[in-house]
Amino acid sequence: MNQNIIVHDVSQEYWYIKEQICSCGGQFEPQGQRLPVGNGKLVADLIKTVCNGCKRQKDFFFDISNFHGVERAKKKLELMIKMKNASMGDLLSYADELTVSPAAKAVDTIISLGKQNDILALEWINEALNIAREQTEISHRKVKT
Ligand SMILES: [Zn+2]
Repeated sequence: MNQNIIVHDVSQEYWYIKEQICSCGGQFEPQGQRLPVGNGKLVADLIKTVCNGCKRQKDFFFDISNFHGVERAKKKLELMIKMKNASMGDLLSYADELTVSPAAKAVDTIISLGKQNDILALEWINEALNIAREQTEISHRKVKT
C-alpha cells in the first residue's frame, strides 16, 4: 500500500514528484488537478501521474494535515466572497485559520532573503540546515519508485 508522504505545502507535493525517477529512468508527470481524498475532513491529496518514458501510471498520496485547515478556510472564504454575503466578523474569524505551515513560511522567508541578496542570513540558515541534516538518519536522495 501507498504510505502518505507528509508535506507542508502544495508546492512541496509537486517538488517531491519531480524528484522521483521511474524504474525506466523516466519522470512522472502530473495529470490534471490534485484531488483531496478522505472522508469528512481532508487529510490527503492524490496526484495522478504518468511516466514520460514508459507511460506507466503512478498515484502519489500526500498527508496534508499540516496545512489542510488553510485550504478549507480559503475555499470557504472564496465561496463567501462569491456569494457576496461575507461580513467583516466572518472574514476575521476565518483569517485565524489562514495561517500557513511553519515550514512553508520558512521556505518563503528563504526565497525572499535570496531576492534581498542577504547572503549572511542565507549562510546562517544553511548552517542550521546542515545541523538538521546530520540529525536525520535518512537524507533525501533520488530513489527509484
Ligand atoms: Zn517509466
